[in-house]
Amino acid sequence: MKIKTELLVVGAGPGGTATAISALKKGGKVLILDRKMHVGIPVHCGEAIGKTGPGIAEIEIPRNAIVNPIRGFRIYSPNLTRVDYAKPEPDGYILDRRVFDKELLAKACENGAEALLGSNVTQLIYKDQQIRGVIARRLGEKIEIEAHVVVGADGVNSTIARLSGLRKNIKLKDIETCAQYEMVNVKIDDADLLEFYLGKQISPRGYVWVFPKSERRANIGLGIGGGMGEKTALEYLQDFIKHNPRGKEICKNAKIIEFRVGALPMGGPNPKNVLDNLMLVGDAAGQVHPITGGGMGYAIVCGSIAGEVAVEAITEGDTSEEALTLYEKRWREKYGREFEQMLKLQKLLAEAEDTLLDKLAQLLTGQNVVELTAGKKIGVFLKAAAKGDRQLLNLLDQLRHLQLVQ
Ligand SMILES: Cc1cc2nc3c(=O)[nH]c(=O)nc-3n(C[C@H](O)[C@H](O)[C@H](O)COP(=O)(O)OP(=O)(O)OC[C@H]3O[C@@H](n4cnc5c(N)ncnc54)[C@H](O)[C@@H]3O)c2cc1C
Repeated sequence: MKIKTELLVVGAGPGGTATAISALKKGGKVLILDRKMHVGIPVHCGEAIGKTGPGIAEIEIPRNAIVNPIRGFRIYSPNLTRVDYAKPEPDGYILDRRVFDKELLAKACENGAEALLGSNVTQLIYKDQQIRGVIARRLGEKIEIEAHVVVGADGVNSTIARLSGLRKNIKLKDIETCAQYEMVNVKIDDADLLEFYLGKQISPRGYVWVFPKSERRANIGLGIGGGMGEKTALEYLQDFIKHNPRGKEICKNAKIIEFRVGALPMGGPNPKNVLDNLMLVGDAAGQVHPITGGGMGYAIVCGSIAGEVAVEAITEGDTSEEALTLYEKRWREKYGREFEQMLKLQKLLAEAEDTLLDKLAQLLTGQNVVELTAGKKIGVFLKAAAKGDRQLLNLLDQLRHLQLVQ
């Protein structure tokens, strides 16, 4: 089968459907391909999205995808010192990605997109050394799709990024491997707060998350830095549940109803995400927060920009790399500096001894954590508090160097 379209989006995750929805608003003709027959399944996600973070302003969250409104978070340091942050009103949501991804696809299709599910993209079509489309296999059939612009929104293991040469292989150290249980009978203190547990023993370069779906039900998972630690992500998760004092307490009677594994690109964005007739968005572009691992919001915002730029370029009849670089420019203006700083902060935190994390937990407020992870400067109080403590002074110097301390 041969198909022609204007904009071809490969991948119907949040990045791909956001690209499609914004392109459709601009009058584009869009075809979406996904290798899955049912998007959103299996779920590779903790399913949390912040209201003030990226994403929610760009896309209306489908009401039926909201499982639990969240007001804030609670961070536990290795010795279980707490840092709390809570707004009076909901500040984010736990979603059902099965519903969320499908509803975004439904919205794109209701607004005019075509979707071909079960279509696994395996090759790029080149003409005159330029990308002109893709070849996919669908139910044993070969499909050739020609497009003015191809958007690779095909996730962490992006075939489009690899085939185009924009991202050959992700280095092991830049991958976060994750394991997650959905559990019932969890003893949750506050069902409207996300919980995070830090520490080298708990999860090297990562954290354990407990994201409540209700009073007694939660996604409990973790990610570890690629090649770090002595155990698998699943073993770290099982250790938390069996041996960590809090893990043991909250999971004493808990039962697993779903088990998920997955990976995240944690090495920051690809140096380049456009070529003639091609753009990458979301995980394929490495647009994931290097500390929190949050990627849905960035995929949505960057995808929305990509969709707009693609249609403008198609309308102007110029889909060259130069024209599409407007996408790169616009999303980097929003998040480029934040990603750079957070990558450096990620390294600092990964190297931090547990004792330093405990001291930080005594000093920082929840608001400080929100500001730091958004790349904003926090107040000088840290300087004062750090007086005399070599470990903290050292960290303060490094934070000042990153322009994260006033
Ligand atoms: C364990 C875990 C927990 C996470 N928790 C959170 C969280 O709580 N909050 C948050 O914001 N982010 C979280 N993330 C990250 C978030 O899930 C991703 O950043 C987000 O899904 C990226 O969206 P995307 O559209 O770029 O890619 P994806 O959602 O991965 O979508 C890619 C799509 O492309 C399709 N595809 C892949 N290859 C092909 C191909 N060759 N041909 C056709 N289709 C293809 C796939 O089937 C898929 O549907 C988590 C990730 C993991 C692994």
